[in-house]
Amino acid sequence: MVVEPLADPSGLPHDVLAAVQSVLGTADALIPLHEPEFRGNEWAYVKECIDTGWVSSVGSYVNRIEADLAAYTGTAHAVATVNGTAALHICAVLAGVESGDEVLMPALTFIATANAVSYSGAVPHFVDSEEVTLGVDAVRLERHLTDVAEMVDGRCINRSTGAVIRALMVMHVFGHPADLDALTSLCERWGLVLIEDAAESLGSFYHGRHTGNVGRIAALSFNGNKVLTTGGGGAILTNDPELARRAKHLTTTARVAHRWNFIHDEIGYNYRLPNINAALGCAQLERLPEMLERKRMLAERYVAAFSDVPGIRVLTEPDNSRSNYWLNTIVLDPSHAGDHEAVLTALNDANYMSRPLWTLMHQLPMYAACPRADLSVAEGLARRVINLPSSPNLVDAA
Ligand SMILES: *Cc1c(COP(=O)(O)O)cnc(C)c1O
Repeated sequence: MVVEPLADPSGLPHDVLAAVQSVLGTADALIPLHEPEFRGNEWAYVKECIDTGWVSSVGSYVNRIEADLAAYTGTAHAVATVNGTAALHICAVLAGVESGDEVLMPALTFIATANAVSYSGAVPHFVDSEEVTLGVDAVRLERHLTDVAEMVDGRCINRSTGAVIRALMVMHVFGHPADLDALTSLCERWGLVLIEDAAESLGSFYHGRHTGNVGRIAALSFNGNKVLTTGGGGAILTNDPELARRAKHLTTTARVAHRWNFIHDEIGYNYRLPNINAALGCAQLERLPEMLERKRMLAERYVAAFSDVPGIRVLTEPDNSRSNYWLNTIVLDPSHAGDHEAVLTALNDANYMSRPLWTLMHQLPMYAACPRADLSVAEGLARRVINLPSSPNLVDAA
């Protein structure tokens, strides 16, 4: 493909394009944002499911991926689910979120965070993010709660809506751990349950603890674009054995064990992960450390390539955290926000698939009327963030 020369060959779009080109080389075909890599036992394990007939809701790979995930994350229990959104839905239910409650969450997140809370009948209450991690800003959230909420009998009440603010759902954006210490102590002060949307952060550690192992309950995603894929899938993580038991029960139609009778003791969900998907995930998990190592090398190459590009910051892991670098991210300085579209155009035109932030939740029609804090930091970031191609195969195995 012939790449049209940029109109302004000396501006920021040109500098960004040159930096990306120096990392990835010229692209004759589209370089995706993130594509899965199957170089291990994936085929063997999936074939075994087909050969034995164990492809669906029962089979040994579901048990194995749950044990392997618990071991990898250092969490006592993992319950595999059909996708990350379903895992988040059950997290909300098990955190005690009830119809009419409010759940604090960043406006800067993927739609699944807000949808999962809506499925439980609760209302998202959007809060602002911070520049370092792109995660929820604990200082601004504290100020917001002081303004709009009060503690009544140990519960956090929104003074203007009268609703119980039940939980805080944090999200580790692009794999960078949010400021969990500050957010944990905020939750303690305000009687909130901390839920982690760790969908993007398998392989990311906060102060030595795996993300998802800090809050009361957490969700992972194994969608095709995440660091590890099962085709579609997810998992619930918790250290609480009773929550884990409830998670397994609710995600498997709430069926009561019996040799042949079909007895269900509450309205459950068909949210279990099929065995064939779990098989793919078991093979992926064997290679996760090695894939993360190459993703880390790619991140280092981006940092080096952008080090002398003025007006740009490459997002790096926060102090005392280890990121999985799911998606590499550049942040334009506020004075360059006007170049955002032009940079995206230059990169995508040259076959480097690049994407802006999600549309912020409060700017989508179904969530426009939800309660919210001042969101000026998230709104500013939405005009300045760009994700770059981040697949592990962009760095060759040694
Ligand atoms: C991917 C993702 C999810 C879950 O997505 P599924 O496609 O349902 O597995 C949830 N939250 C965030 C922030 C995500 O990026």
